[in-house]
Amino acid sequence: MSTATLTLKDQFPGLAGNWHYLDTAATAQKPQAVIDATVNALGRDYATVHRGVYARSAEMTLAFEAARRTTANFIGAAEDEIVFTRGATEAINLVAQTWGLTNLKAGDRILLSVLEHHANIVPWQLLAERTGVAIDVCPLTADGRIDLDAAQAMLTPAHKLVALAHVSNVLGSVLDVARAARLAHDVGAKLLVDGCQATPRLALDMKALDCDFYAFSAHKLYGPTGVGVLWAKKDILDAMPPWHGGGAMIDRVTFEKTTYAPAPQRFEAGTPMIVEALGMAAAVDWLDEVGLDRAQAHERDLTATLRRELSARNDVTLFGPEDGLGIVSFALDGVHPHDLGTILDEEGADGSRVAIRAGHHCAQPLMDHLGVSATARASFGLYSDESDIEALLKGIERTRRIFG
Ligand code: PMP
Repeated sequence: MSTATLTLKDQFPGLAGNWHYLDTAATAQKPQAVIDATVNALGRDYATVHRGVYARSAEMTLAFEAARRTTANFIGAAEDEIVFTRGATEAINLVAQTWGLTNLKAGDRILLSVLEHHANIVPWQLLAERTGVAIDVCPLTADGRIDLDAAQAMLTPAHKLVALAHVSNVLGSVLDVARAARLAHDVGAKLLVDGCQATPRLALDMKALDCDFYAFSAHKLYGPTGVGVLWAKKDILDAMPPWHGGGAMIDRVTFEKTTYAPAPQRFEAGTPMIVEALGMAAAVDWLDEVGLDRAQAHERDLTATLRRELSARNDVTLFGPEDGLGIVSFALDGVHPHDLGTILDEEGADGSRVAIRAGHHCAQPLMDHLGVSATARASFGLYSDESDIEALLKGIERTRRIFG
């Protein structure tokens, strides 16, 4: 097979036993370092932030703001550009309901693409219902990338926003974000990038990408659930009105008039996700230590191996481009993806079980485009290795024997 370079499985207690986890695009398993940081934040070090006059709370406040700094450094951004959200979905809704409601009106247009996750479709549809904004959909190239030549031809001065996935959660296709930003900016539009599948796989620098908004979730990058990030350029964030109202997002409250805290606190109403933010910072530190260049090479290697092995079969259809990153969607002739997923989850003769994802992957318009109701999807993480691919291939063979 190939020469996968990382051997990190031992750091992941969730991967004990002969269980082969190939559903990292849904959510990543957690390394012990993240589990320890989360347990300490919830136990030994726990206190509220930003309010306490006692030492433990002051220390927690420092740790919480250090987590913001760590996360900012991770994507080449400034710490006051990082808004903690519950995840990417909330981050995109935040942009739609604040920046979108303030800046968009009937007659304006938004450009999305066929391969977007529902989290980067539905918030814009909700906004369209309220404002009368129109949504256009950029097609894909034959091999499953967002077709930026087509986007260039479609974009007009009426377009105020382009919102695209950096890495497709179904096809693994990687967007040329810098080019998408130039195309958007050429017509005066902003670019929002859904970075959910890119943050665990690509070294990022917001300045080089030059997008305007970037959203991601910690649980995809080896951190906890319940926390994510909205990054936005500072001038845009500063001009955005608040969204949720409550504690921590205010400057001064009276019944006559309330004034708001500056960004990013203006967008973080209520007691924040303290434990989760510290867990996310631990995940970022862990990823930095592994090195995103090595991470990318590792996932490219595994993806290429799996695609090669699957395309050697005459009963498998592969979706997406050859150089898809870490994610392989496919169909096994005559077998529904759910049946394949169920059989893979049953113990094979060697005691191995394999977890893949089967379904529409929250990308129903893409399924319609591919002409299928579902795909089977194997996705890799930094802990994945050749034994996972071998187990999957054996499981596919077993399924073939059952279905004939
Ligand atoms: N966008 C993409 C590309 C995703 O893969 C996901 C998660 N499946 C999301 C958005 C939504 O992320 P979350 O559910 O963590 O908010």
